[in-house]
Amino acid sequence: MTSHFTKEGTPKKGYRTEAKAKQAAQVSWVINGAELQTYRCDFCHLWHMGKPFSR
Ligand SMILES: [Zn+2]
Repeated sequence: MTSHFTKEGTPKKGYRTEAKAKQAAQVSWVINGAELQTYRCDFCHLWHMGKPFSR
């Protein structure tokens, strides 16, 4: 469920801390109205944002 790649197949932007990822998710919510979840990536061990369980 957690992914290192976008659906386009490119690596997602990674954040070194959960706080930074959450901050970016908040910005995305304000700008796009998109509610994003933050998660620790098993692949690169950074934090990514993603849509909560869309499939
Ligand atoms: Zn990753």
